[in-house]
Amino acid sequence: MISKRFSRQIAFAAFGTDGQVRLGKGRAMVVGVGGLGSWVAELLVRAGVGMLRICDDDSVELSNLHRQALYVEADAAQWPLKAEAAAKRLSAINSDCQIEPFCERIDRLTIHRAAKEIEVIIDATDNFETRFLINDYAVKYSVPWVSAGVMEGEGQVMTLMPGTTPCLRCILPSAPSCCAGDSNACFQFGVLGPVVAAMASMQAVEAVKLLADFADKASPCLTKFDLWNNTLQRIPLSTLGPVADCPCCGRKEFDYLEP
Ligand SMILES: [Zn+2]
Repeated sequence: MISKRFSRQIAFAAFGTDGQVRLGKGRAMVVGVGGLGSWVAELLVRAGVGMLRICDDDSVELSNLHRQALYVEADAAQWPLKAEAAAKRLSAINSDCQIEPFCERIDRLTIHRAAKEIEVIIDATDNFETRFLINDYAVKYSVPWVSAGVMEGEGQVMTLMPGTTPCLRCILPSAPSCCAGDSNACFQFGVLGPVVAAMASMQAVEAVKLLADFADKASPCLTKFDLWNNTLQRIPLSTLGPVADCPCCGRKEFDYLEP
């Protein structure tokens, strides 16, 4: 079953059957099944991840469809919860994958339940409050995570591994002013749908590496893509930290997790 379904993936020698078997036991969580999360979830489920918990308390609406690949017009007409609609679609794609919808907002009270037994967290959120919360959780419990953001024709991706790379607060001490307090502030700038898919694909590859025990192949850089102007910038994470007096990974003050 494994060899037939995943034959093209196993044929990639660096990944191989061993990688596929390890991925099949992997447990991941996608925070937000909107633009980024829809694509990441589908890619991981098609790739053969063992278990995927998909977290979102939002409902599907028409303005989602240009970039949120798991939903169709019938969903937008009925306003189902995204996590439930996504779980149905993902189960139809790969019934061997254990899909767990989690239809609550991720906050300091719910994150422990949502991230229980999770090996890799994928940040597909649209706000910095949740990113800093994930960062606190990831550092405290030593869980690697893959973060991405998109806006207009640009996107960026980075893989943060507690104990190896800087944490989010080493890189960004607090939320950018354009996004502080209002999770929808960034949406005024809009985003091109395919840019979302490109960043989500990068996240999915990184998650596959971590889940299949190829953490040494994880990108060592914060990678910024401007797909509109065709530029690429790679900033080695090692030049960004760890920062010795970082409140999170340095002083172990988890302000977002334990206010
Ligand atoms: Zn830090």
